Amino acid sequence: MNGPEITLEVAPELRLFVAHDRRHGRTVVTTDGSSTLGHVVESLGVPLTEAGQLLVDGRPVPVSHIPGAGELVEVRAVRRPQQVPGAPLRFLLDVHLGTLARRLRLLGVDAAYESEDIGDPALAALSAEQRRVLLSRDRGLLRRREIWAGAYVYSDRPEEQLRDVLGRFTPVLAPWTRCTACNGELAAADKDSVSAGLEQGTQASYDVFAQCADCGRVYWRGAHHARLEAVVTDAVREFGAAGDQASTP
Ligand SMILES: [Zn+2]
Repeated sequence: MNGPEITLEVAPELRLFVAHDRRHGRTVVTTDGSSTLGHVVESLGVPLTEAGQLLVDGRPVPVSHIPGAGELVEVRAVRRPQQVPGAPLRFLLDVHLGTLARRLRLLGVDAAYESEDIGDPALAALSAEQRRVLLSRDRGLLRRREIWAGAYVYSDRPEEQLRDVLGRFTPVLAPWTRCTACNGELAAADKDSVSAGLEQGTQASYDVFAQCADCGRVYWRGAHHARLEAVVTDAVREFGAAGDQASTP
């Protein structure tokens, strides 16, 4: 290509997406003179879901800006916490993020998850149809134009993934209100109404407190794995739970 040369300065948080030889400081790119800045940024490897403000010579420009010769482009990281206007905050997770999905549900966050690989086009369509923020570590998936909103999940460790998503989108936490198996909402239940489906030991040891309105799975007090209790305690301590603000004097 013999188009205009521009200089890009990519925010440190986004440099992991860029090829090694372009990671240090500013990088010079030769464009074709007709591609948008959004396309140029994506070509560098940065998903647009992760790019915040784009500045040309210090002035904000949209992704549709066509860069001209000699421009200095600053690519900032998306601002945290990130607002997702236009619909209640709901997520859709790809096939690799099952643990994260279950932990979000444990905290009461609406997190749809496909345990079978339905393919990128179907996932993207689902995001659009249900207006869900698509969470993925697959940059190719996040580049799909159909998705309603998306976010790259930066870590491959579930603990860090959870902190990443909670810190970025600050969803309202309501622990123990959602089925970790299917994402359905839990309804209060008493032991008598569900005891037929329980094993004898369980019947004797625990008080049933909730049942999933969608799949019927029964949840009972005292039977939570200590690890799950710790996930909830840690998340609420750091990010707060629904009602916390109202009860603060
Ligand atoms: Zn369920």
